[in-house]
Amino acid sequence: MVQGLYDIFVIGGGINGCGIARDAAGRGYSVALAEMNDFASGTSSGSTKLIHGGLRYLEYYEFRLVREALMEREVLWAMAPHIIWPLRFVLPFQKGGIRPAWLIRLGLFIYDHLGGRKLLPATTTLDLRRDPAGKPLKPLFGKAFEYSDGWVDDARMVVLNARDAADRGARIFSRSRVVSARREADCWSIEIKEHETGAVSSVRARMLVNATGPWVDKVLSQAMGNSSVHNVRLVQGSHIVVRKKFNDSRAYFFQNPDNRIIFAIPYERDFTLIGTTDHDYTGDPRDVKITPEEVNYLCSAASEYFAEPIRNDDIVWTYSAVRPLYDDGASKAQEATRDYVLKVEGNMCEAPLLNVFGGKLTTYRRLAEHAVEKIGEKIGVRGTPWTAASHLPGGDFPPTGYAAEVRKLKERYSFLGEHHAERLIRSYGTRAHDLLGSASTSADLGRHFGHDLYECEVRWLMLQEWARTSGDVLWRRTKLGLRLSQEEAKNLEEYMAAVPAQLAG
Ligand SMILES: Cc1cc2nc3c(=O)[nH]c(=O)nc-3n(C[C@H](O)[C@H](O)[C@H](O)COP(=O)(O)OP(=O)(O)OC[C@H]3O[C@@H](n4cnc5c(N)ncnc54)[C@H](O)[C@@H]3O)c2cc1C
Repeated sequence: MVQGLYDIFVIGGGINGCGIARDAAGRGYSVALAEMNDFASGTSSGSTKLIHGGLRYLEYYEFRLVREALMEREVLWAMAPHIIWPLRFVLPFQKGGIRPAWLIRLGLFIYDHLGGRKLLPATTTLDLRRDPAGKPLKPLFGKAFEYSDGWVDDARMVVLNARDAADRGARIFSRSRVVSARREADCWSIEIKEHETGAVSSVRARMLVNATGPWVDKVLSQAMGNSSVHNVRLVQGSHIVVRKKFNDSRAYFFQNPDNRIIFAIPYERDFTLIGTTDHDYTGDPRDVKITPEEVNYLCSAASEYFAEPIRNDDIVWTYSAVRPLYDDGASKAQEATRDYVLKVEGNMCEAPLLNVFGGKLTTYRRLAEHAVEKIGEKIGVRGTPWTAASHLPGGDFPPTGYAAEVRKLKERYSFLGEHHAERLIRSYGTRAHDLLGSASTSADLGRHFGHDLYECEVRWLMLQEWARTSGDVLWRRTKLGLRLSQEEAKNLEEYMAAVPAQLAG
């Protein structure tokens, strides 16, 4: 069945695919997007979750990337203040350490002044013997620099881009794999296989965008029949989540003897997130899993700094993902460029293809703008850049307005506990009111699945955000997987499986 002709067909529902679909739909193109699994189930939910310039990339002279990323920090914060917020980082150092203090100070000076910093505070120096940030650290760290970057709920940023793209008219095929894409006269003919039913449908598009991250070469070879392609270098990165190691709201930036760095970040109120690692990966990106060597590396690197060591049995969760880095021939994984590359293929008479290589969460919006510019050159310009001054769904409140939003929600729904109201605003922003609707007691929220998860939120996620499994809800739309027992997660899975498919949106 041929379902229609779109201007643009995007393969891949990670941050880059969803960002491009949203930008293009907002400019008036007709857009379709297919994601073979759940949104953000690839690399885009396995990141360190930082909206950052990338201080360490300065060592590799990545000034273009760092500048663009620094400028994006406040643009993205204003665009989605519910899921993005500022975070201060404490960078302890000691005499005779890996990098001299003057070099770090110079790096941070450049970081503060390269561009875009209006609301975020500048770098300061800390005396760790007096500042509370020194409390959990070994006493040999007397001084530290404190600088600004940002935090993001990565998986929610992806799904909110998909939601907004759909609200602007894009057709979204979730859990639908592109099995083939062939040029046919002056357009693409694309076959999509729906995961649950196995049904295959066809659509046509004037331009194809391959935004499949770590799968980009696989799609080129398997779905498009290109032989011997090699554009991306797959680099595994893993994180561990341990029970809360410190009370401070600031994160730590630790330098390791191997020249790498790791972060220790306050996470989901009761936990600490530690990561990441960097090593080449050759398997299927879907199977990536933390190795015992990575666990040891992260525990021992963090234990060099924390007075109380991090042990294996502190770990409550781990996750891993694969960076789809553009292969620039760097010898070490940690040195491969983090910048993105957009390549358009197709001669004058052929339907064009845009391949997306590399990229960061932080620069996704700019990547999408550049991608849509290239699309315009090929199939005709529509609209103008618009996303810099836009809001993601629920993000229509001032960047510093989070506490006021929590207050407003609590005023209207006085039965909500403080932490529940905070979580709802952090996840849904102003749309938390739509989610709760006319509820006036907790009983109105429907079945209780554990912690503060109720039926009305699960239904919202199925209806508005394409959630189909308990994993979608517990690990990507929320992080309540850290709170629910196995029994509770199983009950949720059974409940969701019994909800009619049409509710899935
Ligand atoms: C360990 C780690 C830490 C990171 N930390 C940060 C950070 O702190 N800040 C930052 O800015 N960036 C960070 N990044 C980088 C960032 O996460 C990635 O650049 C970004 O998520 C890549 O997104 P993507 O859309 O290209 O790929 P993905 O998120 O992998 O999306 C590609 C999608 O394509 C789908 N797909 C594949 N084949 C098909 C097909 N045939 N049909 C349909 N769909 C298909 C996949 O299922 C997948 O969902 C980190 C990355 C890693 C690995």
